[in-house]
Amino acid sequence: MYKFKTINETETQRLAKQIGEKLLPNDVVTLDGDLGAGKTTFAKGLAEGLAVKRTVNSPTFTIVKEYKGRMPLYHMDVYRLEDSEEDIGFDDYFNAEGVTVIEWSQFISEFLPEERLQINIEKIDEDQREVTLTPHTNHFNELCKEIK
Ligand code: ADP
Ligand code: MG
Repeated sequence: MYKFKTINETETQRLAKQIGEKLLPNDVVTLDGDLGAGKTTFAKGLAEGLAVKRTVNSPTFTIVKEYKGRMPLYHMDVYRLEDSEEDIGFDDYFNAEGVTVIEWSQFISEFLPEERLQINIEKIDEDQREVTLTPHTNHFNELCKEIK
């Protein structure tokens, strides 16, 4: 586990961008934390690192939004799937040639691959966040080691 403290939105995005720059096709990144913790903020930074030009917004009403970057980014917010056990074809995204980023992944835990980078964001106070990275593969572990 790797822990980072950030004191504003920009720092969180900067941290996320470093990760985004190192992601590879088929990577799955999960983002969990309370409402307002900074999951979407983090996703924006990941997208920046993936060279996505369009603005990334919360996909709450569509579940998945796809963006073009140096590879496709599939940005999911599965909050609405709480208690539904609905499989919207997650594996097709996980196995596609892009990166999948999932906000509220706890609600689809039964569908998640073991091979993922797990990110938890905790709100310490109004502006401070504790970001915990749990790499479940060697690739993600190497990636985490390089973060400054
Ligand atoms: P979530 O997707 O988890 O609901 P958002 O990223 O949409 O959260 O919102 C996070 C909110 O917290 C934003 O309004 C952002 O400006 C604010 N914020 C304050 N400090 C931080 C920080 N250190 N990191 C991320 N967001 C922060
Ligand atoms: Mg969000």
